[in-house]
Amino acid sequence: QLKRPGDVQEVRAQLPVVAEEGRIMESVSGSPVTVLCGETGSGKTTQLPQFLYEHGYTLPNGPCGGGMIGVTEPRRVAAVSMSHRVAYEMGLSQRQVSYQIRYEGNATEDTVIKFMTDGVLLREIEQDLLLQRYSVVVVDEAHERSVFTDILLGLLSRIIPLREKSGRPLKLVVMSATLRVEDFTKNPLLFPSPPPTLSVESRQFPVTVHFSRRTPTSYVREAYLKTCKIHKRLPPGHLLVFLTGQREVLRLCRALRGTFPCTQSTGEEREEGGRRERRRRKSRGDVDLDKYPLLPEVGRTECEDEEGEEEDKETDWKAEVSAHDRQLPMLVLPLYSLLPPERQAEVFRPVPEGVRLCVVATNVAETSITIPHVKYVVDTGKVKRRYYDKVTGISTFRVEWVSQASANQRAGRAGRTQPGHCYRLYSSAVFQNLLSQFSQPEICSRPVDDLVLQMKALGIERVAHFPFPTPPSPEALQAAEMVLEGLGALSSDGRLTDLGRTMSRFPVSPRYGKMLAVGHQYNCLPYVISLVAALSVKELVVQTDHSSRKGEEEGRGEGGVKSSGLAALRRLCAGKEEFRLLGDLGLLLTVVGAWSHSRGRTEFSAKTGLQPRAMREVSRLRQQLTNSVNMICPDLNLVIDPSLAPPTEAQARHLCQIVLACLGDRVARKISTDNMSAEDKRKQRFSYQCVSCEGPVYLAPNSSLTSCPPDYLVYQDLLDSGHRIYLRGVMAVQE
Ligand code: ADP
Ligand code: MG
Repeated sequence: QLKRPGDVQEVRAQLPVVAEEGRIMESVSGSPVTVLCGETGSGKTTQLPQFLYEHGYTLPNGPCGGGMIGVTEPRRVAAVSMSHRVAYEMGLSQRQVSYQIRYEGNATEDTVIKFMTDGVLLREIEQDLLLQRYSVVVVDEAHERSVFTDILLGLLSRIIPLREKSGRPLKLVVMSATLRVEDFTKNPLLFPSPPPTLSVESRQFPVTVHFSRRTPTSYVREAYLKTCKIHKRLPPGHLLVFLTGQREVLRLCRALRGTFPCTQSTGEEREEGGRRERRRRKSRGDVDLDKYPLLPEVGRTECEDEEGEEEDKETDWKAEVSAHDRQLPMLVLPLYSLLPPERQAEVFRPVPEGVRLCVVATNVAETSITIPHVKYVVDTGKVKRRYYDKVTGISTFRVEWVSQASANQRAGRAGRTQPGHCYRLYSSAVFQNLLSQFSQPEICSRPVDDLVLQMKALGIERVAHFPFPTPPSPEALQAAEMVLEGLGALSSDGRLTDLGRTMSRFPVSPRYGKMLAVGHQYNCLPYVISLVAALSVKELVVQTDHSSRKGEEEGRGEGGVKSSGLAALRRLCAGKEEFRLLGDLGLLLTVVGAWSHSRGRTEFSAKTGLQPRAMREVSRLRQQLTNSVNMICPDLNLVIDPSLAPPTEAQARHLCQIVLACLGDRVARKISTDNMSAEDKRKQRFSYQCVSCEGPVYLAPNSSLTSCPPDYLVYQDLLDSGHRIYLRGVMAVQE
């Protein structure tokens, strides 16, 4: 028997999903697969795991003979925050309702409900082909069509009949916002007989959609002006603004707080550490907003990479506000996926009477997180996506139009609890003509070498025949096989080699898997592990407002140190030949070593701009990779050496060779400037030529090789900033 807190009882009673509990559970019990569609906020994610638990699905004498309830989410944010919320609602501890995201989690042997990212469950299948530890798998947010979700569905469609035969059936519940689900339900390759699809009707209040007459070029500024206008003129009701990335979100928050300052505490606060330094000013009247934490520090730091388009200054976009307007309190909160969980939880806290909450969010607020009591939505209509060029493999972040389906989702956020309004900062002609109907599934727009390797390791010989909800293009599959063959993971007839099998056992991309697999040959595995860990974790460096170029701020690029906050570390390793040899990778190694060496970690990260969460992830990944290596080669007996002494010069040279062996197809040659004018020489001093693109590519301004650009180098990846294509994570090739 669950003991739910009183406030939870009340909220639950209102949720449409709860009203349908009987019908939903009947379908789950009667059918191996159930598709559950419901408007965002109707209670799918928080309630379904509880229904399953209460119907005994975790009990050995229950309908499936016991096991955990696994819930997959495409976003880490959701996995963490939903596990907390569900534990709280059920009155259970986090030992029982837990989460696992990549290398971080709190699952125990008592765990009954486990929230995890879809990638985590996919890895578990490698160890446990039939998912014996689970009685139910709930695939949440299936409409997002993340690659791992798609592949999981394909695999689960095959696992379910096998489990059925084994006598301990596995149930699958696919949950989706009310977006297109035909790719799952009407796909006979996936589910030969269409699974029952339940739709939960939610009380959705009417939302009036207002289009702009014209479509502005500066949508952040436009969002600012619109938000000010709504706040000044319209009746109470919370506001939700959709932007594309963390940097924009913080920027708009700052501008709004500057315009309506009386309601905000001011001060500074470091992201981490028990010691929270706060300078505070009491807010006006009896409205005490002191309970609310402040924006993360977004002070401007020195900026090295400012060439390119000039952003308009926030000071240029002041809305007119009178003293009267300023008396209306507005609480401005950011919401984006890298925000620490405690901060994310702020949006759920009740706001004092008479205060307007304004949440400035990225796409996470579209379907994964429902903010209560929103009445006004300001939709820029934009989203940031990572693009890969199919031929060159160059990745770019592009800000572009959302799909019509997404725009309608966003509008719907305004009508959860009362009639609302959605202000679209674009014209209805744009909506009709430029917005596609649905977004493209991720699997159709990214390289799939990691997926192909993982699938081959699962024994799927002919990947092209796999029951993908939407298959990737044959060219993408072919390109992946070629990369894998080049790395030696596949034989020429497409079979997994021993090397490939070893590579696949490391939870990192195939290239890095190979670095680990060949690393022990030169007695420098601890360095390889540290390097791969650092390369595999994104966002090592705290994003400061002006330190990165537009498009990089979500930092999804593999590795690469890109903030100016690292100047100190760079100086540290500049003097050391061993590190110099390794270029940017030497810098990464220094970062890992210095981090694990530093005792005052908070100060250390504050000084260097390293993101503590990411660095802890690197530490955990080092541990995990060390364990994997030990499992694969038990006689090596590796242990993590926290001090990670710098490599000797000989080791550094070996490391260079290992890196080269895995990046042989990513070599760039310096463009000769011999016959150029002095002016051109200066301009072209960082320009290179590589096989995968025609035009020149450039050393990134913050690369450690800019002091002395080598003739040949290898790079991790290329990033198109919109102005130039940059080489990232570079290392000189020694003659
Ligand atoms: P769905 O998955 O159908 O989109 P959810 O189960 O996520 O819906 O949300 C159901 C309700 O629970 C929403 O009204 C949401 O605002 C509320 N909710 C979710 N998480 C929290 C939380 N951490 N604190 C308070 N309320 C929450
Ligand atoms: Mg949900």
